Amino acid sequence: AIEVRNLSKTFGGGRSLFGTERHAVKAVDQVSLVLQRGETLAVVGESGSGKSTLARMLVGLEEPTFGDMQIAGRDAAALRRDGPRAFGKMVQYVFQDPVASLNPRKMIRQALEAPLKLMNGYDAGKRQARMAELLDAVQMPKDTLDRYPHEFSGGQAQRIAIARALAAEAEILILDEPVSALDVSVQAQVLLLLRDLKRQFGLSYLFISHDLAVVEAISDRVAVMHKGRLVEEAPTDQLFRAPRDPYTRQLLDSAP
Ligand code: ATP
Ligand code: MG
Repeated sequence: AIEVRNLSKTFGGGRSLFGTERHAVKAVDQVSLVLQRGETLAVVGESGSGKSTLARMLVGLEEPTFGDMQIAGRDAAALRRDGPRAFGKMVQYVFQDPVASLNPRKMIRQALEAPLKLMNGYDAGKRQARMAELLDAVQMPKDTLDRYPHEFSGGQAQRIAIARALAAEAEILILDEPVSALDVSVQAQVLLLLRDLKRQFGLSYLFISHDLAVVEAISDRVAVMHKGRLVEEAPTDQLFRAPRDPYTRQLLDSAP
């Protein structure tokens, strides 16, 4: 589980190189939420509402300006001090653009082997076996290992990025718009895959999306962000049936 309290991130402020004043942006403003074990919590909100900044703090890529964050009962600041490995064993992430998230100069074998070695300390034989299992889990053929990222379609590349996230054997996945860059038909396949993986491996998902239809289909609970703040949080059916916050109502009304 992840538990955050008053998590905040402010960017900017002070003066630029040219002496002009920069105004500070409260990208995430006192957000408190809990991701329960085994659930899918969706975070929705319009562009610029702070979803990705929240996600980047949750995976340890961005340091909060203030607030508390506990992962599986451990303080995130302590996890961060222990290094990326300690954090990565708890939380992994999949971002929107799968091709950009894979190093273009490295074969898929290297992309998958690195976390198996670094995170789990597996020897060569065990790594080989795990890579076969991971590709199997995301329904990609074995020869995937000897290819480069550009040789795959967006949907295939996202499957590979998911396999890499699974390699660390973390229980929590932060998915930041994982299907937004894909064709609609491919979106459905990747969402089905994510659903199956969650069952198979007992994962918890924090699923960021601006697509309300996808959110309604996949999540147990929904948190709504607006200008950095969390304005409403409710079980999915309740939020769609009877939204309480005026902003949530507006968001639902404006959905296609
Ligand atoms: P989208 O739906 O477009 O992905 P988002 O909800 O993920 O939007 P964020 O990317 O978290 O929004 O951005 C929230 C706010 O923080 C925006 O005003 C953005 O300009 C600002 N911001 C994000 N990252 C930085 C940064 N590294 N430096 C300065 N400002 C930033
Ligand atoms: Mg974003």
